[in-house]
Amino acid sequence: MKRIVVIGAGFAGLWSAVGAARKLDELHVSADDVEVVVVNPTAYHSIRVRNYESRLDETLVPLADVFDPIGVRLIEGAASQIDTANRRVSVDSTEPLELDYDRLVFAAGSTLVHPAIPGLADYSFDVDTYASACKLQAHLHGLASRAAPAGRYTAVVVGAGLTGVELAAELPARLRGIVPEADRQAIRVILADRSPKIGQAMGGAQPVIERAMRELGVELLPGVSLKSLDADGVEFSNGERVEAATVAWCGGMRASPLAAQFPVVADGFGRVPVDVFLRVEGVAGAFAAGDCAWLPIDGMRPSVMSCQHGRPMGRYAGHNVVCDLYGLPMLPLRIDWYTTILDLGPWGAVYTEGWDRHLVSEGEAAKRTKQTINCDRIYPPRTRVREDILQAAAPIVQTPPKTMRAQ
Ligand SMILES: Cc1cc2nc3c(=O)[nH]c(=O)nc-3n(C[C@H](O)[C@H](O)[C@H](O)COP(=O)(O)OP(=O)(O)OC[C@H]3O[C@@H](n4cnc5c(N)ncnc54)[C@H](O)[C@@H]3O)c2cc1C
Repeated sequence: MKRIVVIGAGFAGLWSAVGAARKLDELHVSADDVEVVVVNPTAYHSIRVRNYESRLDETLVPLADVFDPIGVRLIEGAASQIDTANRRVSVDSTEPLELDYDRLVFAAGSTLVHPAIPGLADYSFDVDTYASACKLQAHLHGLASRAAPAGRYTAVVVGAGLTGVELAAELPARLRGIVPEADRQAIRVILADRSPKIGQAMGGAQPVIERAMRELGVELLPGVSLKSLDADGVEFSNGERVEAATVAWCGGMRASPLAAQFPVVADGFGRVPVDVFLRVEGVAGAFAAGDCAWLPIDGMRPSVMSCQHGRPMGRYAGHNVVCDLYGLPMLPLRIDWYTTILDLGPWGAVYTEGWDRHLVSEGEAAKRTKQTINCDRIYPPRTRVREDILQAAAPIVQTPPKTMRAQ
């Protein structure tokens, strides 16, 4: 029996596994001839992009609902070693095990960067994973019983990239839903970033973000770096101290440390380079997709760590890994459009097109698009019907999500 091993069951890994199962089905290959095995630390596919929301239970999809109907095997565990020379993966599971592979898809994603800022590891919260988002949620619910009253209802979000903006936009309403009515006037949400402007890299969406934040009551603190944190607050590089019981760190993502085990030159985010077929450059039998891989996505620009790129990279990697195994022609992945749809909490959302982020829609119209993406478009079929699941993994590039256009 031959074996395809997929490391990770996020957007890239799940779709790689389903894509491989779809192609094997199309070729009428029996499960006795080729097995698809996924290694993932949990039994869930996390809709990670929704971790800034409060309704976290809706963000987990049981992997059994997707994999069982199509015969993909899940091993709950974490890959610890990738031996590309001998085509073997070591897995830390209930029982440590060694998995030989004929083809590998590396899709272990990314993690939040943690620079050596004093107090960051001990006192900050984040929304990088389902577990850390739950920890933040539990902390917010426990604020009322906190002993020190100073800054009890102040939340500082540090880092105004997409994740930081989305979290800051949600927090005023989330806190109002938790804080006793008599104390609600004490709620403060601050969004800090070292850039001279909040949302600096957001092109046409930048002024929309500033306006939305002001209307939501979020205080903006641009041009400052985080110097240190303690149990009661933060200190910034300009000497300003803010008493805050909640500090959320949104400082950016870096590829899984496992990427460093590939004999390749990684990019600045620690990602392994792949060709248009998602093959890791110079490593026989290995493919990679999602946040741990970088591909010139339109032939020129590097793919963005995003589910927007991770899902199609996964579908194509899954398709191609089977083609490679059978000596069939593979499909190149090329995506010539790029959009950014940023949730701005109860204010709405903002939708831009293109790499220079040209504003297309904002407010309610963009919010409806965002909700369609977050709650429908990026979920695998939840019907448990084999045909539905396989069909959804066809190696095609979806068209951009539809939105109402600004007049
Ligand atoms: C709050 C938030 C909001 C975001 N918003 C957007 C957005 O609006 N649009 C957008 O396009 N992107 C957004 N992103 C980015 C997006 O979530 C990531 O780019 C996407 O999750 C990448 O998919 P992936 O499959 O490569 O990695 P992940 O989703 O990180 O999945 C990796 C999987 O691999 C598993 N894994 C890790 N290490 C190992 C190991 N050693 N062995 C086995 N398995 C392992 C992980 O547990 C996980 O299941 C957001 C991210 C966050 C945190």
